[in-house]
Amino acid sequence: MVSSLPPNAAQPQEPDRSFESPRHIVLTSHPSTVSQSILPIHWGAEDPTVRGPVVATVSDPAHRNVIGTHSGSYAVYRALAVASGDLQRDHRPDLTNTAPTIQIGPYPSWFEADKIVSLDPFGAQVGQLYSALYEQGFDIRPTIAVTKAHIQMPELQEAVQKGLLVEDGKIMKPGGELVVTKAAIEPVWYLPGIAARLGVAEAELRYILFEQTGGMFPELVTRPDLQVFLPPIGGMTVYIIGDIAAVADPSRPLAVRVHDECNGSDVFGSDICTCRPYLVHGIAACLETAQAGGAGVIVYLRKEGRALGEVTKFLVYNARKRQTGGDRADAYFARTECVAGVSDVRFQELMPDALHWLGITRIDKLISMSNLKYEAITQSGIEVVERVPLPDDLIPGDARVEIEAKKAAGYFSHSDQPDAATLSQVKGRDYQV
Ligand SMILES: [Zn+2]
Repeated sequence: MVSSLPPNAAQPQEPDRSFESPRHIVLTSHPSTVSQSILPIHWGAEDPTVRGPVVATVSDPAHRNVIGTHSGSYAVYRALAVASGDLQRDHRPDLTNTAPTIQIGPYPSWFEADKIVSLDPFGAQVGQLYSALYEQGFDIRPTIAVTKAHIQMPELQEAVQKGLLVEDGKIMKPGGELVVTKAAIEPVWYLPGIAARLGVAEAELRYILFEQTGGMFPELVTRPDLQVFLPPIGGMTVYIIGDIAAVADPSRPLAVRVHDECNGSDVFGSDICTCRPYLVHGIAACLETAQAGGAGVIVYLRKEGRALGEVTKFLVYNARKRQTGGDRADAYFARTECVAGVSDVRFQELMPDALHWLGITRIDKLISMSNLKYEAITQSGIEVVERVPLPDDLIPGDARVEIEAKKAAGYFSHSDQPDAATLSQVKGRDYQV
């Protein structure tokens, strides 16, 4: 056969053999190499030294007592930095002055092994709690960071100008500047607890996690003794507005919004959904509740496109707009199911963990229409006094399809549930192609 290479194509290169260095590689599929020096983890234990630290760094494999590593999906960028020579593979972070700006917890919810299963409640304080182990050479890193910020959003400033929100000089400063405490949280999964939360056998969960990540984590199936997994996914950010002491005090008012990421709307202002308006509405409710002597909490979860991802989401947008009859509320969920095989994989069962980390036992205003969120929160033992839907005047033009489809599916609303005939009449914008 004649070569199909064009005349100016590069000639085949000799294979790169530089990776065949004499470096020793320990395959995690071979449990005979289990180290005797790992620190045990007793999930749910009250004493942090009994609970044991999460040791997830790859700098010293002998100390690792979990599956996976830090930073979620960003671990891959860390690998690129090591590969390109920008980062020393054994770099250990200098944690000087990185401690939380406020103390969160401990709360009783931290010490029930089944109450928090998807984050490490001690994750913000490891620098203080495990300093002796640091000195012995264990590379223990925080999975939670707590800091302070001032946030400015044009909608909030507009609301101040209209007299809908009030600057108090402390929680909201002149110019509509909102003072917040925020916490970034990496996922830390206690596998027996995750399995129980989802109602599946742990062995089955481990096998499917192994399989569906392309065999990325052999220890899921070879190391049942390792019960904690740091999955390669996004985490969450918690924004606290007002007095932190009010968050866990059921005698003081609390507003909460648990918001799943929607980059298109949250950041870029797309009008096909209600995400940013609802987020802003939630922040405004948090501010008002804080000013009334309570506090507000926004939990922002990296679950883009109902945790199906943005590629799936945009494919669905096209399918919705191009289907016969155009973008219709009565086909809203069906189009997602056609593309993804399922309409939602956010698994709200795991979401209340962040609320339990904050010691929340009662929410006065839950700024959400989602039944899945409401049920997950109340079934986890948190009382919800009032649910707050998105006011009609905040629904963007092209988002009527989404909101009516959700109402028809049983989402909470003060208005009537649309029937099939009404639903079929709700249309979105046509593609001008
Ligand atoms: Zn959205």
